[in-house]
Amino acid sequence: MRAIGEPDWASLTLGVFVCQACSLLHRSIPHISRVKSVQDTWDASDVELMATTGNNAAKAKYEQKVPAFYYRPTHTDCKMLREQWIRAKYERNEFEFIEKQEPYSAGYREGFLWKRGRDNAGRQGSQGADEDRDPQRHLPTGQDWQPCGLQITYLKDNSTRNIFVYHSDAKEMIDWFNAIRAARFHYLQVAFPGASDEELVPKLTRNFMKEGFMEKTGPKHTEGFKKRWFTMDDRRLMYFKDPLDAFARGEVFIGSKENSYTVLSGLPSSTQGHHWNNGITIVTPDRKFLFACETEAEQRDWIAAFQRVINRPMRPQEYAVEAHFKHKP
Ligand SMILES: [Zn+2]
Repeated sequence: MRAIGEPDWASLTLGVFVCQACSLLHRSIPHISRVKSVQDTWDASDVELMATTGNNAAKAKYEQKVPAFYYRPTHTDCKMLREQWIRAKYERNEFEFIEKQEPYSAGYREGFLWKRGRDNAGRQGSQGADEDRDPQRHLPTGQDWQPCGLQITYLKDNSTRNIFVYHSDAKEMIDWFNAIRAARFHYLQVAFPGASDEELVPKLTRNFMKEGFMEKTGPKHTEGFKKRWFTMDDRRLMYFKDPLDAFARGEVFIGSKENSYTVLSGLPSSTQGHHWNNGITIVTPDRKFLFACETEAEQRDWIAAFQRVINRPMRPQEYAVEAHFKHKP
């Protein structure tokens, strides 16, 4: 068995070594990249090419002008992001010619995007959350329509608002994503003069620590369990009736162990009404939150995510966020 990330494959056209996961993406653009396993028999000319190019030389050429704000995907990112990064580098040569970066570097951008309405889920009748997650239910259908989505989340009056936008063209969606990052980057440069790019870039966009379905019950623990979509944005655990809902139904603040927050595997023995068996109890200074996961693996992942924030001491500004949560009805 080989680990993810080991460069067991080579692109003979580009002269770079790639891991197996990336080799699959390279295969989808055969006119740009012809991949071969390092286990195969190699011609002397192939060996020669790899020896004369190699990853560092390719990087110096294909990544010479990557803007600081541009999102560089990692192996945990979705296929769309990773494939577009490969295409941007090797097919469109965006980072060799600065004029090709205009769609996200110009400082303005306009165009059409599909946006999901505020209450779509309720009116269309919910038929199981997996179907609700499928944007095609609410967007045009057709052979050429393969929606690529982007979620924009922000705080309004201290509650979380989500906007979901879609485009059928992956490049368009990635250009929007990077245009938004560029705008935020320029804003932060003004707000924090003197901060380095390395300090600002991690603040541009972020991925959720964990998302997925769990069951939850209410504060009395006798309300019955309901299946909800959860997203965890650092210390904010939000839940939605539908994964694409604009507004969270509720939010739970998760503090640190110094402030009496704990996560436990399992549910209090008297608990009833859950359909899923892998329970999680979050103890906060005010109450216990009970959740149930469908699988043990999900339960393990959620507990690990909660544990990560609970083990980290709270920063001063996080106390202010916690106080806001406490004053919510
Ligand atoms: Zn890879």
